Amino acid sequence: MKDLLHSPVRVRFAPSPTGYLHIGSLRAALFNWLFARHHNGAFLLRIEDTDRLRSTKEYEDSIIKSLAWTGIVPDEPIVYQFARLDLHKKVIDKLLQEKKAYKCFCSEEKLQEKKERALSKQITYQYDKTCRRLDQSSVRNDQPHVVRFIIDIPGETFTFHDVVRGDITVPVEQIDDFVILRSDESATYNFAVVQDDHDMSITHVIRGEDHLLNTVKQILLYVALGYDVPVFAHIPLILGDKGQKLSKRDAITSAVEYQREGFLAEALCNYLVRLGWSHGDQEIFTREEMSSLFSLEGVHKSGAKFDLEKLRWMNAHYIKKQSPEDLVALLAQNLSQDLVALTPDWKEGERLQWIALYQDRVHTLQELLTELKRAYSLPTSYDWDGLRKIIAKDSIVILQLLQQEFENIEFAKDELSALVKEFCKSHEYKVATIAQLLRFSLLGTISGPSVFDMMILFGKREVRRRMSHVISLL
Ligand code: GLU
Repeated sequence: MKDLLHSPVRVRFAPSPTGYLHIGSLRAALFNWLFARHHNGAFLLRIEDTDRLRSTKEYEDSIIKSLAWTGIVPDEPIVYQFARLDLHKKVIDKLLQEKKAYKCFCSEEKLQEKKERALSKQITYQYDKTCRRLDQSSVRNDQPHVVRFIIDIPGETFTFHDVVRGDITVPVEQIDDFVILRSDESATYNFAVVQDDHDMSITHVIRGEDHLLNTVKQILLYVALGYDVPVFAHIPLILGDKGQKLSKRDAITSAVEYQREGFLAEALCNYLVRLGWSHGDQEIFTREEMSSLFSLEGVHKSGAKFDLEKLRWMNAHYIKKQSPEDLVALLAQNLSQDLVALTPDWKEGERLQWIALYQDRVHTLQELLTELKRAYSLPTSYDWDGLRKIIAKDSIVILQLLQQEFENIEFAKDELSALVKEFCKSHEYKVATIAQLLRFSLLGTISGPSVFDMMILFGKREVRRRMSHVISLL
């Protein structure tokens, strides 16, 4: 047999277009892509669209778009599984001729009854091989039937090697003569995946550990078909906070929603790569670092809990690193928001300065957008409760006094700061309290960026307008 471990690496990501790209699948795609890059190999994409009822073009397009958003682009044209059905059938016919498979005429109802009986006796259901015993040369092909693959494993267990998990041993009683061709003449997943991976010369199959039992069936098919068996690496699942499989109830699960929420692709991928893989204590990796350091040996064996706060922290890190110009572009690309059109009265430089003022304080692009919109227009709401907590009375008088004093100075940081300090000294207020009150008057919120920076950006006229507005409300 060819030593696949030392062949050029060819990996694939094989999503079924029956939903949007799940972040667990995105992580599998990323691991495959990094592995390919690390070994100068090829990363391929196969759309497993054989489930005609649940597969849609919308999901397929969305998956491809989400992958492109994260920079995971296949190195060869996309392979579509449904287009390969005739080929699958031909190979299954060959297995029938070689008596490695047989036609099964058992009806769905009969099988269901048997399954229920096994369930009531609390025994593992296995197909009882009724049709394996039929004389296949005399069966009537016009009767509805499926094709089953013959399982003949000596001993009570079957063992295979997985790069991440080591040797995996499965009791033989869990593997029965499984269906490889449905009654509608379409190949089942376990068959199609083997034939396609073989035809695409896949060397390493990297996927979620929920496929472990399928791998046993697939290895048996590889052997029966005389194909080289690829190397398998099953990656742990992403878990919810109680250790359960992550579902929509626990967190947003689709990549496209993370994009809409304002997570950067770089941050999401950095977060996902760390979820189940590590390199020392390092948290932040550039794409180049990831691909040069990634190895299957570094993939963890146990599941990793999804932690939204950590993802937000990482996103904040990547937002901070962008230039304000890049953030304008990201708002357009990720959120379809044209900041220039949303803030027409701001001059270009002003807009960029507002972004710079906020980009260190937000965790997502949505948060950034909300803050910028708040800065652009007169506040439509005010945090009155917050205000009452910092200053019980006199807000109106303080603001009136300050407003008068602001008229007489130059709007520069030192002047503003000296004025407010002096004011606090003579009226016995804390500078922090007055800064919060001023912020409240300008934005409607008591927390936010440096109030002096904001005032300079707003300019004297706008500060006057906003202070007068809030005074009229107090
Ligand atoms: N279409 C399968 C899935 O989405 C592919 C599994 C595999 O990678 O073999 O789970």
